[in-house]
Amino acid sequence: MSLYESRLFINGELVEPSKGNKFPLLNPATNALVANIPIADEDDIDKLVAAAEKAQPAWARTPARKRATVIRKFAALMDENKYKLSELDSVCMGKPLHHGLGDVQEACDISNYFAGLVEHADGETSLNSPDVLSISMRQPFGVVASIIPWNFPTMIWCHDVIPAAGAGNAVILKTSEKSPLGGVLLAQLAYQAGFPPGIINVISGPGQTGALLSAHMKIRKISFTGSTPTGRAIMQAAAKSNLKAVSLELGGKSPLLVFEDADLDATAAAAVKSITFNSGQICTASSRVYVQKSVADKFKALAVKIMQNLRLGDPAQPNTNMGPQADSRQAAVVASYLQAGAKDGTALVGGERALEAGDNYIHPTIFADIPHGSKLDAEEIFGPVMVLHEFETEDEAVQRANDTEYGLFASVFTKDVGRALRVARALEAGNVGVNCTSPDGAYELPFGGWKMSGIGYQKGSHAVLEWTQGKSVSIKHLG
Ligand code: NAD
Repeated sequence: MSLYESRLFINGELVEPSKGNKFPLLNPATNALVANIPIADEDDIDKLVAAAEKAQPAWARTPARKRATVIRKFAALMDENKYKLSELDSVCMGKPLHHGLGDVQEACDISNYFAGLVEHADGETSLNSPDVLSISMRQPFGVVASIIPWNFPTMIWCHDVIPAAGAGNAVILKTSEKSPLGGVLLAQLAYQAGFPPGIINVISGPGQTGALLSAHMKIRKISFTGSTPTGRAIMQAAAKSNLKAVSLELGGKSPLLVFEDADLDATAAAAVKSITFNSGQICTASSRVYVQKSVADKFKALAVKIMQNLRLGDPAQPNTNMGPQADSRQAAVVASYLQAGAKDGTALVGGERALEAGDNYIHPTIFADIPHGSKLDAEEIFGPVMVLHEFETEDEAVQRANDTEYGLFASVFTKDVGRALRVARALEAGNVGVNCTSPDGAYELPFGGWKMSGIGYQKGSHAVLEWTQGKSVSIKHLG
């Protein structure tokens, strides 16, 4: 008997998967079994879609202010359950408990913000049709889906489910196989807050379960947050099935540019935090750092010292800076990049697994002398591994920063305001930090990736509208 609830949450009930298939989930800090996780199959999903289709029209007719009230109650329940939610993510994927509390806090804040947006389904009118009242209106899609990753499970759950359900849709969310537990508790809290049965449903399973959603003929929109290759597969499945609307939040290989006039202490601290927070498992992590040659040695010494002082260990301890990678597979992938880096360049710090902390821990690492465009320089590692380059001129720095198919986040550190604004405009990314970097950001602004980092936006003032479709209505009247 597991200590943790892991059943599917379908139509207001916790249920076992119809065929009883499950897979084991291990705690990456200890390798202990956490729970056996249900695998939803085609039958489960067809039944669920039918229930969601039935529940959705009444929910869409519920006045927006009532939907907003339910969301605010849900946010309050999340706050009441923040320690439990943080614990669930921590035992699944190794996030330090105190970092998980920050994840839940942002989830509460953004859910309250979305509640405010629910009453703003603004449309338009025409001045060109005196005998016809021409208006545009926004309406929900019907049944929609969300597939999420494991790195910020609570926050990303709320980024999709709350605006989608707030807009009047019925939502089916598939959790990640690496962090499925929090999603089930969130669904229970949503039900307790007043979302009717069938409006918020949570299922679990591997990639094949997600593929069933992206190919489903009755699901009209899908939002995916995860890796670029999976995003491509989801878009293909949507195109081959019913051409459902697709929005994608994908991977990154974010550049951070350090000019010689920057505050080097603050910049080194921000750069190291960006690549080590959540054990480097952040889509926006500053993984490529470009430092102006004249200050490169000083910057390297500062960054190495900060990394050496980070504490790796038990995610439950309040002084732990970094937990393990999310699972043994993730640790093995990062370790394979460390081997490639050792061949191609020089590790200034780290470069190895941290076996003294546990099987799945990786020492925070900086590689220098890595050839431009090599595997380590080009691919998203999703671990605490920074690749450090030197540059001479602003043009060279911008050109090298943009020489990637990713475009999620970029940052520039300088005291020269003109240069900061010039470079911020020139960087090819959906999000830019000036004298700050990821994880800094504001949830009232749209978040999305350029190039192969995504299509569409989450967060921001259009978050609820993104889950509606437009309709133009002409009403002829006489006189
Ligand atoms: P992933 O692509 O491996 O998996 C994400 C989700 O997709 C999981 O739930 C998985 O089960 C599911 N999936 C896998 N194959 C599928 C398929 N063929 N069809 C449908 N669903 C499928 O990504 P991950 O390892 O969970 O997460 C890490 C990635 O997520 C990184 O690339 C990171 O940059 C990205 N990410 C992006 C953002 C963003 O906002 N842009 C945020 C967080 C993470």
